[in-house]
Amino acid sequence: MKAGRKFISLFLIWAIVLPATILSQTAIKPPKNKFKVEEDVKLGQQAVREIERELPILNDAEITRYVQSVGDRLIRAIPPELDRPEFRYSFKVVNLKEINAFALPGGPMYVNRGIIDVADNEGELAGVMAHEISHVVLRHATAQITKMQSPLSMAVILGSILGGGILGGDLGAQLGSIVASGYVSRYSREYETQSDILGAQIMARAGYDPNDLANMFIKIENESGGGRTIEWLSSHPDPTNRYKRIKQEAQYLSVSRNPIKVTPDFLRIKRKLQSIPPGKMQPRSGDSSEYGKVSKPSVRTVSYTLKDVVRFRYPANWEVVNESDVEVMLAPRGAYGSQGITHGVVVGVREASTRNLNLETEMFVREILQREGNDFLRYETSSRATVAGRNGLVTLLKGRSPVTKQTEVVRIYTTFNPDRKLFYVVTVAPGSELNDYDVAFQKLLNSIVLY
Ligand SMILES: [Zn+2]
Repeated sequence: MKAGRKFISLFLIWAIVLPATILSQTAIKPPKNKFKVEEDVKLGQQAVREIERELPILNDAEITRYVQSVGDRLIRAIPPELDRPEFRYSFKVVNLKEINAFALPGGPMYVNRGIIDVADNEGELAGVMAHEISHVVLRHATAQITKMQSPLSMAVILGSILGGGILGGDLGAQLGSIVASGYVSRYSREYETQSDILGAQIMARAGYDPNDLANMFIKIENESGGGRTIEWLSSHPDPTNRYKRIKQEAQYLSVSRNPIKVTPDFLRIKRKLQSIPPGKMQPRSGDSSEYGKVSKPSVRTVSYTLKDVVRFRYPANWEVVNESDVEVMLAPRGAYGSQGITHGVVVGVREASTRNLNLETEMFVREILQREGNDFLRYETSSRATVAGRNGLVTLLKGRSPVTKQTEVVRIYTTFNPDRKLFYVVTVAPGSELNDYDVAFQKLLNSIVLY
């Protein structure tokens, strides 16, 4: 009886809500963001310098002007309630055949010539650009940092954006490249969907057909045969579902009866590109100095306190690489850089939604495996362990590190703390140095006092 009534009331809600959501375009709300709009701009400008040292920018006024004109048309079509006058949009063509495009926080956009090669009309090029502009408009880069706060704390990032004396030029530049290569180029599925939908809306407002963006996903996917990996596809997965979602959104939008498709300019630019030889990436200069010789963990230890969370001791020759209210990363010199740590520990605490340690650990481990740059790691085993004197788990991950070119051994110790949050210690070391590191890790684990 109760179940029956519930069913009816649920049905009524559906009946009321459904037509409204079907008939109107999807409302897009920018995600939570702790950064100021100007900080998006500064972060982007900083990354520009880093990126333009590495990327072969195409120096052809006619082609650049054309891509800029497509970009300007899209910028004018940004819904006014989302438009930010502080942003400084710019559009450059990168002389690389690789299919890729990306935008930096605050507006600078880079479109590889490979995108123009794949596109069969201006709408398809505009679709990729509208999608990237949407990431800028919705401030996804800083929203993502707001959400993660890790592995680089907000304070560190902000310090480097604001250009104070907090960080040396090297680390500042490193952060720029992190923004450029990691955080910015890969967003959560939720953000990607937002950008697909807003991108479709901007396209319609600019006189393009949003279906061209949908088509572009399928075209790019078809290009990926024969062992070729496509950068834009790896940061923009699941093309079939996106195709469907964009097509669906397009039905609610007022699309021009005569949308911009193949234009004489588009054809001329495409032809002209064929006569220009592709360029090459410039090797990143800072990379070699980032990681280097790592000394053994010193026997002497020092104390670290993560306020209201934990106190423990760690080898005196390790440094605090990054810290936030909930997490600290410690590593010896030479063992950290833009690709994370090769030796050291991450200690922290996170909210748990259940009291099931297996489940919470599994979710945490999955997140670690999915994190940018961790795709070399594989799950090995999981077993019971005592962590900080409490019932816990230890999960083993392994894989060949792209930095050290050796097997990396990662152990994730988890337990619930007295606040019922998930407390974790992640240890990282190359397999060949485990003898030395296991002693240090064990000492650290034994010294833990949870608050
Ligand atoms: Zn995207």
